[in-house]
Amino acid sequence: MQQGLIREKNNFLVFGAPDIRDEEINEVVSSLKSGWIGTGPKVQRFEEQFKEYKNTAHSISVNSCTAALHLSIIAAGIGTGDEVITTAMTFCATVNAIIHSGATPVLVDCDYQTQCINPLEIKKKITRKTKAIIPVHFAGYPCDMDKIMAIAREHKLIVIEDCAHAIETLYKGKPVGTLGDFGCFSFYVTKNVVTAEGGMVITNNNNYAERVKILALHGMSQDAWKRFSDDGYKHYQIVFPGFKYNMTDLQAALGIHQLRRVDESWKKREDIWNNYTDKLSFAPIKLPSELQKEHKHGHHLYTIMINKKIANISRDDFLVRINQENIGVGVHYKSIASHPYYQERYGWRAEDFPNANKIGGETLSIPLSSKLNDQDVHDVIAAIRKILNV
Ligand SMILES: *Cc1c(COP(=O)(O)O)cnc(C)c1O
Repeated sequence: MQQGLIREKNNFLVFGAPDIRDEEINEVVSSLKSGWIGTGPKVQRFEEQFKEYKNTAHSISVNSCTAALHLSIIAAGIGTGDEVITTAMTFCATVNAIIHSGATPVLVDCDYQTQCINPLEIKKKITRKTKAIIPVHFAGYPCDMDKIMAIAREHKLIVIEDCAHAIETLYKGKPVGTLGDFGCFSFYVTKNVVTAEGGMVITNNNNYAERVKILALHGMSQDAWKRFSDDGYKHYQIVFPGFKYNMTDLQAALGIHQLRRVDESWKKREDIWNNYTDKLSFAPIKLPSELQKEHKHGHHLYTIMINKKIANISRDDFLVRINQENIGVGVHYKSIASHPYYQERYGWRAEDFPNANKIGGETLSIPLSSKLNDQDVHDVIAAIRKILNV
C-alpha cells in the first residue's frame, strides 16, 4: 500500500497554505522593532489601501470577518426581536454573528449550481420582523445581487455581504461588498489575502462607518492609536458597551503586502483553476459552475461534487483516500441545518434545505493556494484520477 503513493507523508500538501513572502516577514519584524505592535500606523495604511482597492468611502479593520459581520449587524440597529435572512450553505460564523447580535437567523436554501443563496427562496421567508439579508458570495462566485437588492429595496432591508470568499469578486464589473450596505471580508489563514486573523468592514455610509469604528474598540469615542499619539493625550468617552475587535499592526504588516499582490495571486489561482477544469473535465464528478463573462470569480475554493451513484465512491470515502495520498482537502460546508445546536434551537431540519443538504454530502475543496507549484497541481490531479480510476 505504501508503494505508489502520489506524495510521501513528509511532503503532505497542506490545504489552504498561506503564501507568505520575505516582504511580509520583514514588515512584521520592522513592526516588532518599532515598538508599535498594537493598532497603529500600519493598520491605518492597510485600511487606506483596502479602501482604494474596493473604491469605497470607508474601510474599518477588525480582527476577523466574524467580528465584521457582528458589528455590521449591530451598527445597522438590528437586534432582539428582529430576523436576519441568510443561506444554509455558509460557514457557521455567518449564522453565529446573527445570533450574537440578539436577532433570529432565518435560513434559506442555496442554488445547487452556484451554491449561492436563492433569491426566490428569500422572498418566501420575509416577515414583518425581517430586517436584513446576508448573502454569501460562495467560493468567490457572486450572488445574484440585482435580484437581492431589488428585494431589499422593496422590503426596506439592510444588505450585509459576506465576502469572506470574495475579495476579488466583481458583479457586473462592481466589487462585491460595495453593492449592499456593508461588505465583510476575512483575512484568515486560508483566505485569499491573509493576516493570520483579520477582517474588514466596508461601507459608503458615514454613520455606519462611525458606529463600526466605535463598536470595534470598546465603544470608545476615540481610538487608542490617536489617544497615545504624539499630538498629546486625549481623554476618551465610552458611548456604547463595545467589543475588543481591533486589528494589530502585526496583522496589518502582513496584509499590506498580501493586498499589494492580490491580483498576482488571483492570476496564479486562475491558472491552477483552469488547469483543474481542463484535466478533470472527463471525470465522473461535478466541477464548479462556470460564471458569465460580465462577472469576475474570486477563485477562492475549487469545489468538486462527488456523488456516490456517479463516481462509485462516497465523498467521505474519497476524503479518506485522498488524505492517504498525502493531499489535504477541505469540506465547505456541511449544511448549516445539519448541526445539532441550530436544529435544537431553531427546529431546522437538514432536508428542508435540499440543495445545501445535497452539497453538504458531496462537496470537497481541493488545494487552490497561490503557493502551489506545478508539481503540487499535478499531484492533486493525479490523486483524483487514481481514486476515481480514470
Ligand atoms: C471564513 C469565513 C467567515 C469567518 O471569517 P473569520 O475571519 O475566520 O472570522 C465568515 N463567513 C464565511 C463564508 C467564511 O468562509
